[in-house]
Amino acid sequence: MADFKTHTQVAAVVSGGLAGLALFSGLASLPEALLYWAAGTLGGILPDIDSDSSMALRIVFRCFGAMAAALAATFAITLWSVPLALGLGGLAYLLVRYPLCQLFAHFSVHRGVLHSLLANLLFTLVAVVLAHRLFHLSPQAAWGVGGFVFIGATLHLLLDELYSVDLAGMRIKQSFGTALKLTDWSAPGWSLLLVLQIAACWWLAPSPLDWQQVWQQQQIWPWSAGGSLVPPLQELSELVLQGWALLIKGI
Ligand SMILES: [Zn+2]
Repeated sequence: MADFKTHTQVAAVVSGGLAGLALFSGLASLPEALLYWAAGTLGGILPDIDSDSSMALRIVFRCFGAMAAALAATFAITLWSVPLALGLGGLAYLLVRYPLCQLFAHFSVHRGVLHSLLANLLFTLVAVVLAHRLFHLSPQAAWGVGGFVFIGATLHLLLDELYSVDLAGMRIKQSFGTALKLTDWSAPGWSLLLVLQIAACWWLAPSPLDWQQVWQQQQIWPWSAGGSLVPPLQELSELVLQGWALLIKGI
């Protein structure tokens, strides 16, 4: 299993590179690219929130606590005085950070259902919904945030799986196969709950179709100017033939 530092470093480097690519190809503005970078890095630690003593659990519940505090204070300030609203905000933070976090830790099992691709899909959609509904990001930017969370979280699973192969000793550790999985098949009830939460988030999320239009308008590839992401078959076969010809000449 890769440690916290390795997960954050790999996720930060990969998502930083991809966010830079999005910025320079015109798919994201500078603030959006920075947000994508942060989302990818955070995604890189999310699967380990099921480990009761993990840094990931503390970071995520601090973030949720801060969001709950901001929401509670914003709501309370319209009704009560500033000190009272701030007090309510502080109380909301403490409630999320401690009892709620402990309840979550009590029910979650490390390398269980939350350490899976299905859970990554849920993390993605929760990020999209929060980015759009709470932070009022455009549907395109919200899905960008979600996409980077998914990339970071999936990198985490891959990295854990890679660490279960001991290349030097040419042996496979016992943990092999527990990190990168579709879901935890031994817990069908929890998996079903995840599917239901995914469906609810999908319903709350904005349409991802904005991205389709962006890809079509963006002339990243010569053939995308025609409105299709897939190159025409004729062009593709010509490219393959030219490649072969060059390869044969080289040999
Ligand atoms: Zn892990």
